[in-house]
Amino acid sequence: MTSQILSEQARAALPGGVSHELRYRAPHPVFIDRAKGAEKWDVDGKRYLDFKMGSASQMLGHCHPEIVQAVQRQAERSIFSADCHVLETEWAEWVNRLYPSAERARFTSSGTEATMLAIRLARAWSGKDRVLRVDGHFHGWHDHALKGAKPGSDTTPSLGIPQAINELIDVCAAEPDAMQKALEDERIGTVIIEASGANYGCVPLATDTLRALHDVARAAGVVLIFDEIITGFRWSPGGRQARDGIVPDLTTLAKVVTGGLPGGAVCGRADIMELMSNATKRNGIAPAVSHKGTFNGSPLVAAAACAAMPILATGEIQAQADAMADRMRAGMNTAMADAGIVGLAYGDSSIFHIHFGRDTIDGMTPAQIRSLPPVQVKAYRDGMLHRGVDMMAYTSGLTSGAHTPELIDEALDAFRATLADMIR
Ligand code: PLP
Repeated sequence: MTSQILSEQARAALPGGVSHELRYRAPHPVFIDRAKGAEKWDVDGKRYLDFKMGSASQMLGHCHPEIVQAVQRQAERSIFSADCHVLETEWAEWVNRLYPSAERARFTSSGTEATMLAIRLARAWSGKDRVLRVDGHFHGWHDHALKGAKPGSDTTPSLGIPQAINELIDVCAAEPDAMQKALEDERIGTVIIEASGANYGCVPLATDTLRALHDVARAAGVVLIFDEIITGFRWSPGGRQARDGIVPDLTTLAKVVTGGLPGGAVCGRADIMELMSNATKRNGIAPAVSHKGTFNGSPLVAAAACAAMPILATGEIQAQADAMADRMRAGMNTAMADAGIVGLAYGDSSIFHIHFGRDTIDGMTPAQIRSLPPVQVKAYRDGMLHRGVDMMAYTSGLTSGAHTPELIDEALDAFRATLADMIR
């Protein structure tokens, strides 16, 4: 109830009452007061089991004690002075050690900034303005990332993006033949791929397909970027590239790389990354590739990241989260079968997705999966929320190192009750 009042108040202060368009939820969003582990509480004190987990950023669980302590300690030393500090080097060394593609890392203030920077670097290195991306893959909201983010290669993804920019972006299906055909255009110097497939892995990208896309890009000699903003530190400590042994030139990271604080990173081949070094010049001006940003690599974020890295590096948190997502998927499939509802829970690593009305996605192309109508998804999400279980937007849910078998079983009870309502 209080959320409804707060939402009305917010609408007078913030466009739509939100700071991110996907946070809006009819009839109004829930206002969260505090979070701990895999749980959170709204302003009325109602408890939720969380399967959104900070849009995949809180891999260790909300308010992990080591992150909280690291941030508190750092806040007492220096919140921000816009100077170099030792934690950013330590943080970059962790990234460079864990990511096979990483010889250098540069920090940004969001994932969107990371993909913007990676594309700028790739264009600078290749000397070519055209970028090839995959239909339906999301790379943030900057002007060079939105065309193609929705399936169907929307050519006007938002008002306010110059058409001249949209025209530099080519979109292909997540299929090696389609990419090969698109790369016949020699004006393309960059390929960017979302390593989860699309939408948190809702559209899976099989390892063989990712490898084939990599091989096609390599043969064309373009700069290959993997956007590991979802898969980074989640699919494995070294992301999808370490798990599956498929290595790009540049990688973008955010969400988990910061220990769950705001920020992001680009890492990759030293020769490309060094274009940002002051030793390089273009038209006599250094550096060749410009990158700024007041809060990049801030000590507060670096402190959280450096506290998270040793925990993430062991892979134990990821194994726990994967096991809990497995338990959730299996439990959901059993519950749907028991209720006589046709549906499918699936997904990779610590993410699960649900589609009602189908019991398999085998044999479907990425475009077909991506365009499945969201049958009953609203009833499912609303039913779960009403029972104190918060899912991600669309069809997804995520587990973390804080999810336990008991919490998963509690969520599955809510799922069974929601299914019973849906068939009533
Ligand atoms: N790339 C991917 C794959 C993402 O999932 C996201 C955000 O969800 C982004 C880029 C953009 O990151 P940010 O929201 O930090 O700008």
